[in-house]
Amino acid sequence: MGRTWLRPCAREIPFLSQLFPRPTLTYLNIHTHSQPPEGEQTIASFGLHPWHLNEEWPDQLKAVEKQIDQHIKSSSLPTAAFFPDLQAAAPSQPLPFFIGECGLDRLCPTPYDIQLDAFKAQIRLSEQLSRPLILHCVKAIDDVLQLKKGTRQPWIWHGFRGKPQQLLQLLNHGFYVSFGLHFNEASISQCPLERLFLETDDAPQSIVPLYEAVARRRFIAITTLQTQMWRNLKAVACR
Ligand SMILES: [Zn+2]
Repeated sequence: MGRTWLRPCAREIPFLSQLFPRPTLTYLNIHTHSQPPEGEQTIASFGLHPWHLNEEWPDQLKAVEKQIDQHIKSSSLPTAAFFPDLQAAAPSQPLPFFIGECGLDRLCPTPYDIQLDAFKAQIRLSEQLSRPLILHCVKAIDDVLQLKKGTRQPWIWHGFRGKPQQLLQLLNHGFYVSFGLHFNEASISQCPLERLFLETDDAPQSIVPLYEAVARRRFIAITTLQTQMWRNLKAVACR
């Protein structure tokens, strides 16, 4: 009995999949320093990292602004190309890119006052250009929360490894949180999917194993996670 009952179902599966073909989803990597492999995509990001700052930072920031100008002018990709897995964004919407990574790091040798000045200038740039900010923060959360007050652009806390208590604090302050390969397991279980991003940062590797690990931990399909990441990008970059 069971076998005869199963037969029509087995025939229906390819039929249904033809009616509703599953698109091939791209893996969004929100922050990487490497060229992503085929099937993965990242978003351009322009800024001054706190590790590499010196007194010349105002000139370096001018160079960054020029790069941004060129990026906007020379990019031949339509905005819709960045949203292959969702209903395309309207072509008139600006090309998504981020300001950063930038921020504050109390453990790096760069003098803290230089870090603060350069970070404030990049916050202004993010607000002027209406682009989200990719944040690097090490042991400077109080200053970051203070500086975030009154800003309108989304901030993405990259490489988050903190515990759920700190995650909650960031969520309450409106942050998006990007998790890398070394995530805190309790935090990734508790982060709302609509505030979560994934990244490989400076690890020169595919992001697919990270998607697999997170999907497993959240008891969701990888495709659900992929779609949600693009939806989140749309939410931060096409406002
Ligand atoms: Zn990085």
